[in-house]
Amino acid sequence: MEYNVALVGNPNVGKTSLFNLLTSSNEHVGNWHGVTVDKKTKQIKYEDDLLNITDLPGLYSLTVYSGEEAISRDEILFHDYDLIVCVCECGNISRNLYLALQLLELGKKVVIIVNMIDELERKGMKFCGDKIEYHLGVAVVPFSAKRGGRVENLTETIIKAAKQVTSHKKEYDYYQKLNIDRISDIIKTNAKNIRLDEQYCAIKLLENDEYIKDKLQLSYAQNKLLLNQNDMQVVVAKERYEFIDKIILHAISPIYNSKHRQKSVNNIAYCNNLCLIDKIVLNKYICFIIFFAIMCAIFYITFGFVGQTLSNLFVYIIESLIYAPLEVLLTELGCMLWLKLLICDGIIMGVGAVLVFLPQIVLLFCCLAFLEESGYVSRIAFMMDGIFQKIGLTGRSAFTLIMGFGCSAAAIMSARGLENEAIKKKTILLTPFFSCSAKLPIYVAIVSTFFLEISPFIITLIYFLGIIIAIVVACILQKIARFKSEDCSFIMELSAYRFPRFDRIIEIIVDNVVAFLVRVGTVVFALNVIVWILSNFSFSHGFIVGTDYKSIMQLIASVIAPIFLPLGFSSWNAVSALLSGVVAKEVVIASIASSGGISAIFVGEYAAIAAVSFMIFTLLYTPCIATLTIIKKEAGAKWMIFSIALSLTTAYVCALIFYWSARFILFFMSFY
Ligand code: GDP
Ligand code: MG
Repeated sequence: MEYNVALVGNPNVGKTSLFNLLTSSNEHVGNWHGVTVDKKTKQIKYEDDLLNITDLPGLYSLTVYSGEEAISRDEILFHDYDLIVCVCECGNISRNLYLALQLLELGKKVVIIVNMIDELERKGMKFCGDKIEYHLGVAVVPFSAKRGGRVENLTETIIKAAKQVTSHKKEYDYYQKLNIDRISDIIKTNAKNIRLDEQYCAIKLLENDEYIKDKLQLSYAQNKLLLNQNDMQVVVAKERYEFIDKIILHAISPIYNSKHRQKSVNNIAYCNNLCLIDKIVLNKYICFIIFFAIMCAIFYITFGFVGQTLSNLFVYIIESLIYAPLEVLLTELGCMLWLKLLICDGIIMGVGAVLVFLPQIVLLFCCLAFLEESGYVSRIAFMMDGIFQKIGLTGRSAFTLIMGFGCSAAAIMSARGLENEAIKKKTILLTPFFSCSAKLPIYVAIVSTFFLEISPFIITLIYFLGIIIAIVVACILQKIARFKSEDCSFIMELSAYRFPRFDRIIEIIVDNVVAFLVRVGTVVFALNVIVWILSNFSFSHGFIVGTDYKSIMQLIASVIAPIFLPLGFSSWNAVSALLSGVVAKEVVIASIASSGGISAIFVGEYAAIAAVSFMIFTLLYTPCIATLTIIKKEAGAKWMIFSIALSLTTAYVCALIFYWSARFILFFMSFY
């Protein structure tokens, strides 16, 4: 048999972790709210049965407030799942059961998994779900997705529950108190028409749930009968919570033995420490200094000693152990000059120029993963909310923007959860200004050519420049009526601080290494070969190295090059690197490396200034094709074109201002 099972629960309770365990997948997990913004389904086989397991975005209640919550609600209400696995977090059991209770009111078949038992045990407590099981009539399974283990048992419990013929529809004590039957009698046929449980609809009407009200399409007469039932939202919530409080009494209790007593004592100290951390980290006066220091630390780890040493090792391997022997070998084999140059200079040096940054990219992703898993990202959202509101964003935009340091395309997808369309569009437009990891090689290569001693400092400045430009652009957009967004305060819990799991960090490293190698091996490789051929062949004279003829790329680039003259770089190789960078940003440095390297492109008195101007331009100009495709998907073609225009204009203006200001400063300094 085939069964459809949905994983439902509050945000950040470990649904995706559980999904990954059950289906051996590797979906994005993070210690903040709104990581999962779309549903994901995967099929697994267990003995003779097939299970289609769907991971849904988190939600607090079936009466929803945000986009991704609505996705989950619609799925739960109208997709015929054979079973709903309600994932709860033991630290917040009462609020989590509030959702479970609504699923049961709906008459769905439910299994409750109480996750993060390890955290409870670390605090010297234990969980017993018997009473909850008895009162709700469904299985309650304690679990720890962190520890894993017993996945087979879990799958078995899920299948067993899915196979049960009837759901556990119970009439809870509060039904009578709320006088549900009277209302459900009135709306019985309407509820049947939309295939929803009548008692569930009755409760939702009491809660004044607009969505269900619309769906039910009540007649004038029915509305009149229900008139005096208006808005009992608070009463319904109170009744549900009273019921929950009753059934969870004694569910969580201390473990009584000397070892655990000590744990309890330690834990109280531990919790006090955590409160202290938040008092410092979220302190009005120093929170931004701490944030700034953390970001600087990340950039220094990535670009400073650690990253540089690892990168230099890669340079040694590629130059001395691959390039040099291969060149000798090809010469001895009597290989044609153009083929030898294509393989050595075009492919090895070009692709190698990107490959050497693998350690730094991995380090950057590890640091981001640390931020995400530790719980600090939700503090960033919290402290940024005030400032962000002023410039027309919300604290939640911070998640998307910070993830932009990794990969713009992936980050933009997370903007889907933003509650307000104007804010969502603005966040999408601003994300590419947060420099993605693919641009990292460009900065490192340029900065280590011109400013070797202070390279981490300059690169950190470039990253912060991206953030400042994003803020300025946001302010300008907020002044334009079309983009103006109303104040949109958001409800967000601060997620618990967690020490990142070692296996997650390893997973992140492996994922990024694989993704990076695939990209370098496909897009970067292919594009680099094309760029090299265009740069070394001419239409009329074939291979032109050592001659004065102009290559195809020189002809194409020379048409556009004058546009870049005011920015200080107008050599054909710089322009062709920028052109190929539209496809993927990694190709910029590959293309520069295979056409002579940085020092061949930026020459003359103002070489260093021109190089920085080039760097600023690449920081801000058109996002890569993958990102543009995602922008089109999330916001539409019009917004994609606007994003291209916005980024090109911003890049041009900023590089222009920098180049000429720097030249003026140099000019005046020459008098002293
Ligand atoms: P979702 O938002 O419900 O999909 O939750 P995620 O699967 O993204 O997990 C949220 C956070 O909780 C991540 O930092 C996970 O590493 C962490 N987490 C998940 N399950 C457990 C668990 O059983 N124990 C502990 N200690 N942490 C967990
Ligand atoms: Mg998730």
